[in-house]
Parts: sequence; C-alpha cells; structure tokens
Amino acid sequence: MTSDPISVLIWNENVDETRKPEVRAVYPDGIHGALAKAFERDGRFAVKTATMDEEECGLSEDALVGCDVLMWWSHHAHEAVPDTIVERVRRHVLDGMGLIVLHSAFMSKIFKALMGTSCELKWRNAGEKERLWVVAPGHPIVEGLGERIELAQEEMYGEPFDVPPPDELVFVSWFQGGEVFRSGCCYRRGRGRVFYFRPGHGTYPTYWNPQVQTTLRNAALWAARRAARIDGPPTRFGQHAPLEPLG
Ligand code: ZN
Repeated sequence: MTSDPISVLIWNENVDETRKPEVRAVYPDGIHGALAKAFERDGRFAVKTATMDEEECGLSEDALVGCDVLMWWSHHAHEAVPDTIVERVRRHVLDGMGLIVLHSAFMSKIFKALMGTSCELKWRNAGEKERLWVVAPGHPIVEGLGERIELAQEEMYGEPFDVPPPDELVFVSWFQGGEVFRSGCCYRRGRGRVFYFRPGHGTYPTYWNPQVQTTLRNAALWAARRAARIDGPPTRFGQHAPLEPLG
C-alpha cells in the first residue's frame, strides 16, 4: 500500500534575500527555494513554498487545511505577520498540523504564542564553527545521521534559551566561542508537533548541507499531521453529556 505524500509548505518572509546581496549569493532562489530542494526529489513529500508578499501572506485557510507540515523561516518581519494569520496557524497546529521553526524564527509571533515565553537567547554573528551533537540517538529526527553535524561557519546562539523545557531534546550545539545551545527541541501542542531547529543564518550555506537536509526531512516526517489523523475523531471540548444516567 502506498500512502499519499506528506504535504510540506515552506514559508519564508523573503526579506533578507531581497535586501542583502550576501544572502542572495548563498541562496539565489531564496532560503525557501533552498529548503524546497531538500524535499523535491523525495517521493515521500509534496513540497510548496509561500512568502509574505503573497495574499494572506501565503497562509490562507485553504493553504493550511491541505498542509501536513509548515516550515517557517523569518528574521526581520516577524511583526509584519498579522495576528489573525498567526492565530490561524496556531489553530491548525493545535488541530494536528506539524510546525518546524527555523533559526531566527525563534522570535516569530507563532513560536512565541506556542511557547508562552519570551524565547530570548544570546547571539553573535562571527562566522564561527558549530557542532550539533545528537543527544537523542535513535530519535526519528536523527535517523541516518552520525553522532554530530559540523558546520564550518554559523551564527552563534547561546543559552539560556527562554523556552519551556522541550518534550524531547534532539541536538545540543557547541560553538567555537564557548557557548552551548539546545538546537533541536521537540514540543507537542494540542494534537500538533513542533520542532525548533537552530542553524540557518542567511549568509552561510547551512541549508545546502546534506546532513541538515536529512534532518529537515526527518523532522517533517516526525511532525506531519498524519499522526494526528491516526488518533481518531476530532477532539471535543466544552459542555459534555454524561455517558451513563446520573440520577
Ligand atoms: Zn541569523
């Protein structure tokens, strides 16, 4: 039996690519274009991209209903996403849509809404080495990886990272400058699964790294809405009739 491909929607604010030649040099088709390349030759996935300049930021009800996993990259324009759209995305996550939050999207409205904390961290952009250590061997998100991923140049994010303790922690990063960071954090919110994955500063070729691409595909498989579908009928809340006579 073959199952339908997992529908992956890659969303990017697409601002750095239009303003900064150094980002365009690494990602000529945009960060979303590079992320899509990690999926498009794999028959398990059907991938689409969307950017903020589209109608309803490319995140219409129709787009989200058909989406098993939404991948989110943003940096400068977090506040430009209307609250009504953030709430729409949040509702779909609670109803089972997977969400993968990348790099600087730790400050996106949707991530902060789902975490309930400031999501603040330390940062430094000095092009230093990053080692992402796998701290959950056997987790589906690290299938096919070795014990670590090494990136020759990345921006540093340092602890403390003001997020709730993750349900599962998959990667811990070490940086050349001495800091450490929880770089792969899994959360369940409602029926949905959320994965925060740290690397991906726009001036470094991180999303072309084959191990990073493997991680992104694994994360999409882990987070996909189909897990919520298997769980049965829609969740019911509110006033509820007794199943047995009470009087
Ligand atoms: Zn960055």
